[in-house]
Amino acid sequence: MEPIYLDNQASTPMHPRVVAAMADAGYGNPHASSHSIGWNAAAKVERARESVAALIGADPDEIFFTSGATEANNLAILGVRKLRSEDRDGVLRPTIEHKSVLAACDALAEEYGFQVGTIPVGADGRVDLAYFGEGPVDRVVLLSTAFVNNEIGTVQDIAAIGGLRGEALFHCDAAQAPEAVDMAGTAVHCDMMSLSSHKMRGPMGIGALYIARAVQKRIKPIMYGGGQQSGIRPGTLPLQLCVGFGVACDIAREGAENRKTLARLRDAFLDTLHNQGLRFSLNGSSELGKRHPGNANIRLHGVDAEQLIAVLQPRVAASTGSACTSGSLEPSYVLTSLGLTREEASQSIRFSLGHETTLAEVHETALMIGEAIKRLA
Ligand code: PMP
Repeated sequence: MEPIYLDNQASTPMHPRVVAAMADAGYGNPHASSHSIGWNAAAKVERARESVAALIGADPDEIFFTSGATEANNLAILGVRKLRSEDRDGVLRPTIEHKSVLAACDALAEEYGFQVGTIPVGADGRVDLAYFGEGPVDRVVLLSTAFVNNEIGTVQDIAAIGGLRGEALFHCDAAQAPEAVDMAGTAVHCDMMSLSSHKMRGPMGIGALYIARAVQKRIKPIMYGGGQQSGIRPGTLPLQLCVGFGVACDIAREGAENRKTLARLRDAFLDTLHNQGLRFSLNGSSELGKRHPGNANIRLHGVDAEQLIAVLQPRVAASTGSACTSGSLEPSYVLTSLGLTREEASQSIRFSLGHETTLAEVHETALMIGEAIKRLA
């Protein structure tokens, strides 16, 4: 029997249309400019770039393909390393960000002399907008926040944060956003935005960084090579991955109904837990409109999450925290940053639902959790 896959925020299965388009993508170096095989490959890559741009309301020449959101975050953050001055030497981020944001900000501090500051978030993981009233961006080169948190699914008010950025550049890690929110026109709120194909039903190994045209000259590459993509991100573009990612972006644009279905499944999952009398709370925002519709990060009171996940094997695939830090026995730093104790964090599991998830599966999982907790007790 196939496992019930509830780890879609770690990676989504590819959509069949993505697989078909990739199989049909052909071959050839998209940068080979002297023959039709190269021209065809280039045309397909550029069509994919248009699809990525259309998802967020950018222009195609503002989209730079990368290997994923980790690289996009690094390019955005390390890309400002030459912009530090006497008067402006800060970089700001919440501490609940993905490791690729936190570590890149730390590198700016350690290697380039930046001061790293923290944007405060509430217990629900939402950025505290009142903080910006205190003028913290006056000395800041870059501020970076995720659009949607990868562990607790909190959705940030990107328009409001963008409006409060002053002269600072605003980078948004939107790796988890396409499944969670309507991204139409969201590029206008920020200067840079990261995307990851494998979080949105596209292939692994590709993502993109949107860089607004007005700021492109200020961003320094982190790799050097043959000058592809204006030299901002050189390297031969992976034709098949670009094509698959482009189709995934087209599919995400049609996603309003899908998000409603995800929310219904999530609610059914929580209801089935509730109806068994289980003691649990939802980590992150309790306002369901302010969280990823497929995210149910729950704390099961008094239950060791690692033990519970082990009991659910091999039937249910879910995880404590994110895959990027899993394997470590430390409780999630995202949850402890929100004020949960280590013990509370270690009782928490992220169930992330996707488009292949069925009502029968969420029902079965919730009942299995109830049974398992009885047995563990
Ligand atoms: N940012 C966020 C919010 C993520 O969820 C992830 C993936 N866990 C990344 C960045 C890194 O993305 P990628 O796997 O494409 O490197």
